[in-house]
Parts: sequence; C-alpha cells; structure tokens
Amino acid sequence: MQNPLLDASDSDTDFEQTLRPTRIREFVGQKKVVQNLSVFIKAAQKRGEALDHVILSGPPGLGKTTLAHIIANEMGVQIKPSTGPVLEKPGDLAGMLTNLDEGDVLFIDEIHRLNPVIEEYLYSAMEDYQLDIVIDSGPNARSIQIELNRFTLVGATTRKGLLTAPLRARFGIDMRLDYYDVELLQRIALRTASILDMGITDTGAHEIARRSRGTPRIVNKLLRRTRDFAQVENMDTINDEIADTALNALDVDQNGFDEMDIRIMKAIIENYDGGPVGLGTLSVAVGEDKGTIEEVYEPFLIKEGFLQRTPKGRVATRKAFEYLGVDPDEKETD
Ligand code: ATP
Repeated sequence: MQNPLLDASDSDTDFEQTLRPTRIREFVGQKKVVQNLSVFIKAAQKRGEALDHVILSGPPGLGKTTLAHIIANEMGVQIKPSTGPVLEKPGDLAGMLTNLDEGDVLFIDEIHRLNPVIEEYLYSAMEDYQLDIVIDSGPNARSIQIELNRFTLVGATTRKGLLTAPLRARFGIDMRLDYYDVELLQRIALRTASILDMGITDTGAHEIARRSRGTPRIVNKLLRRTRDFAQVENMDTINDEIADTALNALDVDQNGFDEMDIRIMKAIIENYDGGPVGLGTLSVAVGEDKGTIEEVYEPFLIKEGFLQRTPKGRVATRKAFEYLGVDPDEKETD
C-alpha cells in the first residue's frame, strides 16, 4: 500500500504487534463479526473440530490480521502466516500445509494475489485435507497424494471481488470488516495510550479518532506521531490542542483527508468537470497506482459521500465540490 499513513515501517510493525488485541473480548467494535465469530469458535470447540475456513475482507488496517491471530488464540492452536504473492510454487504451499498440526490456522494475507496454480492446489486441501501434487513432467509425470491434518485457512483480502468463485465458495465463514465510527476509534486511542503509558485526555483521543479515516491502524500511527509533538513541547498528556497541531503538521485535515484524497477530488472536479472519469485516467492524473486508489482512497471517500463509483467512472459529489469551494452548478455541461 502506498498511503503514508497505512504503510508500515519495521518499527511500526513491531509497534503494531504490541498493540494487537490477542483475545476476542479485547477486540473493539465490529460487533456483528465478533458475535458471529464467537459462536462459530465455540461450536467448533464443542464438536472438537477445526474451525471452518474463514475469509476476512475489508479496507487495510481494520483488523483482519489481528482477527486471524485472535481466531488461533481462541481455538488454542498455532497460526502460520503467509501472503498470497509469497506462495509462488506448489512446493511453497506444500511446505506450509504439511507443517500444520491438527486444527492449526494457515493465514494467507492478500489472498487475492495468489498464483492461480497454487489456488488450484488449495481447493482439495481445503475441501478434503488432501494435497494432490504432480511431480516430474512429460511421460514421467505422476501425481502423489499427501494427507493433511485438518486445518483452518484464514484468508484476508482488501479486494474480495478479485477472488475466483471456486475459491470463494470454499470458505464456510465469510466476514467483512467495515470502517469504525469515531466513538470506537476513540476507545482504541485510549486503549493504545494506556498500553504505551501515555497520558491522553478524552478530547485528545477524540480529535485523533475523528481524523483517522475510520481506521484503527491510522489511530495508532497518529497517536504515536502526536506523542512526538507533545514530548517536544514538554507535555506529558496529549490534549485536543496538541493533537490538532500535530495532525495539521502531518497534513491530515479536519475530515481525516490527506494530500492524495484532496488531489483525487481536485482532479475529478477541476480536470473532468466532476466526472465521470475512468480509474486509469484518474490514476495518471494524480500520479498514484490504480490499485491503491481503488483499495485505500476511494472506499473512504465513497463512505464519506465525497465520491461515487458509476459504470462510466468516478464522479465527485456535491459534497466534494463544496469541500473544495467550487460551485457544482457552475460546472460545464456538454
Ligand atoms: P492489512 O490488510 O493492511 O494487513 P489489517 O486489516 O490486517 O490490515 P491489522 O494489522 O489487523 O489490520 O490492524 C492494524 C492495527 O490496528 C493493529 O496493530 C491493531 O493494534 C489495531 N487494531 C485493528 N483492529 C483493532 C480493534 N478492533 N481493536 C483494537 N485495535 C485494533
């Protein structure tokens, strides 16, 4: 991902690990997902079976990886993490699968980027806990079958639409994570501050929450940066004032928009009269990768009502015109 607020450096990754809730009761928000998942976990435990395969979808930073770890913790099993692009050869997958103990979780992040060949191998592994591998080629080619322990595949994706129908059909549990509201993000900010032993007022947590694009990862990141500003000012408690100063310095505006969000709206309105404009054209106009626009920026702009996706392309809404101070009724019509 190429959003500076969503990108994770190594130190951010360590930081994320320490903040990750490990049990389902510590996971803030996503009530429906949490309630259902708790039932499925309890039922699987009662039956003494591995949990059915789970697909978790939703924009980045909302807690998919966290939930995958929670599933393993709650089931009392190990988790073996991997990502779609890393599993290049059938041998890579076979190595992972044959290393799983009974009930273990295999977590594949970015599962939509899985090589189609690997995906085919996954089908029988998911369905029959069996791996049919073809070894050798030409006249010597033969298939061997490897029996696997029963396992749970947890797949995470920001682009569920890119999963093939056969793969999607093999997940018995399908859960979508949505953006968090401000009150929940405020709770996450307070939780993080307490873990990190930082002083923060309710209004300080609220200010950060309000400007974090509905995303826990951004809350944590902005909180950390705000702490830097507070420390330089010799403040031992983060309040709304220092949060505002820090967020302004980081170019995070009152809506939580960053420079790229604004650039996207500006391009549609100023260059294309508010749209519709195709994703490819928009991508060139703002100098950002198509996938990043589609997965990171658009969902939030759409959710907040600043952008619409139509069959003809992206359209800026009245709210976007107002945000940029442009009169929507003065746009040229053809
Ligand atoms: P990506 O798709 O980019 O990998 P993700 O959806 O897997 O993102 P996580 O890595 O699970 O997101 O979460 C990012 C950070 O946000 C974690 O460090 C975690 O501490 C925090 N977080 C996410 N969800 C919650 C939550 N519900 N409660 C508290 N903290 C959360």
